[in-house]
Amino acid sequence: MSVIRVALPVPLRQSFDYRLPVGIEVQVGCRVLVPFGKRELVGIVWQLQPADAFAEDALKSIVAVLDDSPVLSGQLCRLLSFAADYYHHPLGEVLISAIPALLREGKPLPGYQSLHYQLTQAGQAVTETDLQRAPKQLALWQQLRQGGLAADSITSEQRPALRALLQKQLVAAIEVPFSPYPAVTSTQAGLKLTTDQALAVSAIVQAQGRFQPFLLEGITGSGKTEVYLQSIAPLLAEGKQVLVLVPEIGLTPQTLARFADRFQVPVLSWHSGLTDTERLACWQQAATGSAAIVIGTRSALFLRFASLGLIVIDEEHDASLKQQDGFRYHARDLAVKRAALEQCPVVLGSATPSLESLYNALHKRFQLLTLSSRASGQQLPTLELVNLQQQAVQFGLADSSIQQIKHTLQQGFQVMLFLNRRGFAPALSCDECGWVADCQRCDASMTWHKQDRQLNCHHCGSSRPVPRQCGHCGSTRLVPLGQGTEQLEAQLQPMFPEVPVVRLDRDSTRRKGSLVEALQHITAGGPQLIVGTQMLAKGHHFPKVTLVVIVDVDGALFSSDFRAPEQLAQLITQVAGRAGRAQHAGKVLLQSRYPDHGILQDIIHNGYDSFARLALKERQQTLLPPYQYLALFRAESHQDDAPRQWLQQLVELAQTEAPKVQLLGPIRAPLERKAGKYRWQLHCYSASRAGLHQLLNQLIAASQSWPLTRKLRWQLDVDPVDLS
Ligand code: ADP
Ligand code: ZN
Ligand code: ZN
Repeated sequence: MSVIRVALPVPLRQSFDYRLPVGIEVQVGCRVLVPFGKRELVGIVWQLQPADAFAEDALKSIVAVLDDSPVLSGQLCRLLSFAADYYHHPLGEVLISAIPALLREGKPLPGYQSLHYQLTQAGQAVTETDLQRAPKQLALWQQLRQGGLAADSITSEQRPALRALLQKQLVAAIEVPFSPYPAVTSTQAGLKLTTDQALAVSAIVQAQGRFQPFLLEGITGSGKTEVYLQSIAPLLAEGKQVLVLVPEIGLTPQTLARFADRFQVPVLSWHSGLTDTERLACWQQAATGSAAIVIGTRSALFLRFASLGLIVIDEEHDASLKQQDGFRYHARDLAVKRAALEQCPVVLGSATPSLESLYNALHKRFQLLTLSSRASGQQLPTLELVNLQQQAVQFGLADSSIQQIKHTLQQGFQVMLFLNRRGFAPALSCDECGWVADCQRCDASMTWHKQDRQLNCHHCGSSRPVPRQCGHCGSTRLVPLGQGTEQLEAQLQPMFPEVPVVRLDRDSTRRKGSLVEALQHITAGGPQLIVGTQMLAKGHHFPKVTLVVIVDVDGALFSSDFRAPEQLAQLITQVAGRAGRAQHAGKVLLQSRYPDHGILQDIIHNGYDSFARLALKERQQTLLPPYQYLALFRAESHQDDAPRQWLQQLVELAQTEAPKVQLLGPIRAPLERKAGKYRWQLHCYSASRAGLHQLLNQLIAASQSWPLTRKLRWQLDVDPVDLS
């Protein structure tokens, strides 16, 4: 008899021991079904324990072993255990989150990739006259004589005939097993590389078979994707697999097509839009090596690969690579860790690298590869500041901006207007007394969605009908406060009655497929006005856009979040990168009330790379990440004082345990109340990563026994990206 330690998907910071009945064997990484309280849970075997170390009789026995071989490889187990430690998240939840839902539910792995039907020897020997009396069987037999048929191509009408033929043993089912894709012998030649591109490709190719992180810093349109493609080609000749992480699902169709067009290998995509069955199939194809390239969003990082040769992270600066709830991992950072475990290179690509990655590159932890010009020789767009205080403004647009929009449209080109607020207006207000319609559960105003005739809270998701009267004085003169994309769209249409206006934001693209449709419409069409939120900044190609207007850059200039300038510079550069992608030079107008602001001046005159290096110096002077490590405790409760008190207890403990860790807090979260809960934060800074993590462990362990801990919800965010 022996004992196994099992990780279970429960929010408890411990694993659980079970007895393994005599004669049953199991390996680490396999799933088992175990009794837990009144339920049975699927868990993952984490350790085989020496039998004598336990009072075995006190242990419950497992119910069943679900796998013959581990679903999590040793490499993945190491990655996930590192991640659970680093992000201080319960191991069971981390392990279980790394396998597809159907495996979590205890379903078996699909045993074969596909099922085919084929004539048996007897089936080949029969003649048409033998089947004359059964015309449907005859028809199917004739079809099968041409070759095997995939099970999913058999129609429901054909099924009875198929069953009959199977029964007569004229047809047999053949299971096509999962198997590694055949190594590629010839690939379609790529573009002729620029010198910068060629240097990058050769560095990446030379790093094959060993761990080497690269930062590929290439301006928008510099041909980063071509670098990925040509770095991948030699790997496919060796039958190696490649993982490409992309930030948004909206990007995947375009990216998928570029990879699939180049290589004649199975290219799979992994994203939240897949059904559970599709996910499991994709997972299994990666695990067995039958997928060559997987392009996916952040959780693709946890796929199992048979033979991983390279990881690419496109748009590595993108905040969506960080999971914002539950297990708050950063896919970029874990990808680097995974590459180290798998001994393969990892390429982080961006036109606007995160300051963290830039720091790693400047300190030689990552090798820096630079693409400094546009691949096709196009000019980068020019950036121009428009002073909103010095001219007439109509609908948020300066007169000079309107003139340039007109001019661009007259020449047959498209104009993109970027406004990072969806809805009609960020608030609805009383024109007489100044009352604002607030969310009842959050400290925030509700956004007016005029088309939906609703007020929506963008923080907690609650909504209500638009009131007819002021909630304070009863006046009916309710007016929009501020401007959202829906309003801008409505205002532009009468200004340019002949020109179609397309809006791209989360509201306008809610219907499945509507984003792809809108993008096609834009690429195919003539003069157009495109209004949108940051969805516009995400790597799309708009060949006919030559003018971009950033309607309001000021929002981020005075934010309390130390990352706000970095994010603004990234946004401006990425949005600007959409302009002038084809033969025509592009221009970007930045509308501001503070055109002399240092950040804007720096971006305009020196570009993102200069801005980023200066911003790093500032982070160094102010001892902010990446010059110190940051971990953020969040606590929230319906009672205002509980989270503050709880965090205060952490502070007192931290001050005695680790006086060198600097603490900021308890402070109120920027959004003080959300969904009815009061929110507080504690920021912990330290120059020593080990010191910080030791303290975090101590704090979490101590807090488990505090009565207050059970009265609130708390989370720990290590290396937070979003400080709200
Ligand atoms: P990025 O990902 O850096 O924004 P892309 O890879 O999308 O850039 O390339 C931008 C455009 O330049 C694409 O249309 C691409 O086909 C083209 N391109 C890339 N590399 C080359 C090259 N070496 N020669 C000519 N055109 C290129
Ligand atoms: Zn009023
Ligand atoms: Zn709300």
